[in-house]
Amino acid sequence: MSYCKKCNYFSKDDIDRCPNCKQYMVKEAPENDAPVIAIRTAGIEHERITAALQDSKIPFSERFARKQASANVVTGVNSASVDIIVNYKDYEKTYDLLVGIGAIKLDGEEIIDEVDEKQPVKKSVRPGEEEFEEMSTRKRIIVRILSAILFIVVVWGVVVGVDYVMALVKGLFI
Ligand SMILES: [Zn+2]
Repeated sequence: MSYCKKCNYFSKDDIDRCPNCKQYMVKEAPENDAPVIAIRTAGIEHERITAALQDSKIPFSERFARKQASANVVTGVNSASVDIIVNYKDYEKTYDLLVGIGAIKLDGEEIIDEVDEKQPVKKSVRPGEEEFEEMSTRKRIIVRILSAILFIVVVWGVVVGVDYVMALVKGLFI
């Protein structure tokens, strides 16, 4: 198992670096009263999970996931991710509860990534960088072609316009 002392991310697997904050993880069980992230959640799912924890009388605290902080400004607080934090001694109980209510799917490996996939905001902020690069390159080419066409049209317009004005002027004097 691995535990991140910085952000309290916990995994039953051995992971070198925290997938949440990139710190090196401690590969041993945290203290019984150490805070661990049980799940990262948002929106209605968040309310469902906290209600289930309250019903089961598992003490927990909530913390806005820092990664999401900039997105909150754009999308409003409702879509913000929240980390549900429990004491390590309650982790197993919490994990079973979350599996029981379908908040954790056993085939899914990483809870954090799983939640992130449900966040359209997240997608445009980080993993979409490549897509964005490609888009802006395509955009730049289109802009270049359009400005070339516009240049030809303007030149043609000026030539035709000058011819027209010249013909008018000639007409006045002849
Ligand atoms: Zn961490």
